[in-house]
Amino acid sequence: MSKNVTIVGAGLVGSLLSIYLSKKGYNINIYERRADMRKQKMSAGKSINLALSDRGWRGLEGVGIADEVKKIAIPMYGRYIHNKDGSTAFQPYGKKEQAIYSVSRAEINMKLMDLAEQNSNVKLHFDERCTSIERQSLTAHFENNITKQLSETKGDLLFGADGAFAASRLNMQLSTDRFEYNQHYITAGYKELIIPPGDSGKFLIEKNALHIWPRGSFMMIALPNLDGNFTCTLFLPFEGEKSFANLKTRKEVKRFFETEFPDAVPLMPTLIDDFFANPTSSLVTVKCFPWTFDNRIALIGDAAHAIVPFFGQGMNCGFEDCVVLNQLVEKHNHNWENILAEYEQLRKPDGDAIADLAIGNFIEMRDKTADPKFLLQKKIEARFSEKYPEKWIPLYSMVTYSPHIRYSTALKEGMRQEKIMQQIMQLPNIDTTWNSSQVEEKILSLL
Ligand SMILES: Cc1cc2nc3c(=O)[nH]c(=O)nc-3n(C[C@H](O)[C@H](O)[C@H](O)COP(=O)(O)OP(=O)(O)OC[C@H]3O[C@@H](n4cnc5c(N)ncnc54)[C@H](O)[C@@H]3O)c2cc1C
Repeated sequence: MSKNVTIVGAGLVGSLLSIYLSKKGYNINIYERRADMRKQKMSAGKSINLALSDRGWRGLEGVGIADEVKKIAIPMYGRYIHNKDGSTAFQPYGKKEQAIYSVSRAEINMKLMDLAEQNSNVKLHFDERCTSIERQSLTAHFENNITKQLSETKGDLLFGADGAFAASRLNMQLSTDRFEYNQHYITAGYKELIIPPGDSGKFLIEKNALHIWPRGSFMMIALPNLDGNFTCTLFLPFEGEKSFANLKTRKEVKRFFETEFPDAVPLMPTLIDDFFANPTSSLVTVKCFPWTFDNRIALIGDAAHAIVPFFGQGMNCGFEDCVVLNQLVEKHNHNWENILAEYEQLRKPDGDAIADLAIGNFIEMRDKTADPKFLLQKKIEARFSEKYPEKWIPLYSMVTYSPHIRYSTALKEGMRQEKIMQQIMQLPNIDTTWNSSQVEEKILSLL
């Protein structure tokens, strides 16, 4: 068997997918719009950091590359909350040894490209922008960014792994009757900033944590990098009283940060310059259907399900797509009609579920992590879960540390748990009785 596979997009998911398919004996050509990032000098602090968790690790382990990626990952064992009054609090993500891992998006992408190219049946083509796909002949058309030369390639299978604004998806949308498409922008955008390292690469805030400055309608987060700096991301509404629209001058930016994030300002010497130099980007959720076409074309990763980043799951979900596809290749013995039908049927509800969970987690991160009532609820849940692990896995743990629980199941179970906890939080004197046997029995009776 020597099937030729075209993958559009050498991002995180396209690169990992190529490794999976190459190990199954396929010949893969990946076409990437951008230049080869491995040959370009990256400017410090310009890279987005991603939280890699168990679903993502499972995807990497499936092709034996988790250890390679671990070399460029930093474990974060919990949230480190920075309050406005300067006080801080550490909230563990789960049990003691449980962590999510900070990785630079560019670093992991480059690593995946290197690992993909180690397979002789994977070929990467850079500066090639996909312009259209002819479905009948399964021909993809490209324009070279530098030479402007046009080219085309024919394959037996094609994967659109070209991200949230995928050209492949648009092509399918325009050529498919009753294609469902929903695109939603949240009212907040984001901007990357930096906390550089101290003397001799010293981490200036706790290294092994995800830092959050929760401020109600907005927040800043910071994730550690191997070289001692932290990539900070400010999530802020585009419009309104506290918004990007109202941060037009250096004075306004300085005053805003000094008021809202007073403990961070002394750690950010290039703050004002970075604020004006770095772009303000928007955050989109994309839901669409179908994900597969003509039994030989499929959308995967953000091209199928772009989500907002607040559960740290976009890449993890895309890697899980690869795991599921790989399992289906084995199950259906390379029968792509059956593989793609089941892929779409399994993954669409999970893509929708993690999209909704991610929106919900924005509110939790920016708002509730500083709310004592919410923290008490989490404490009650953690205590109950420790005692009855078979009856209660907290939602965060289901999504982050339980790759065998589907996102759609986690969403349903999380909603059931929330209903129970709303009743528990109404109990009289819950502040003082939260760790009593009566509260425990009440939860048991509501399960
Ligand atoms: C601020 C932010 C924070 C995030 N944090 C997390 C996190 O903590 N954890 C997590 O799991 N996820 C996170 N994500 C999401 C994660 O970055 C994405 O889910 C992931 O990058 C999706 O991978 P992908 O390969 O599907 O798409 P992409 O990484 O976007 O790759 C698509 C590739 O296709 C190429 N391409 C596009 N159009 C064309 C074309 N016409 N022809 C050829 N090539 C093309 C692009 O250049 C790109 O290389 C975050 C996202 C953002 C924006």
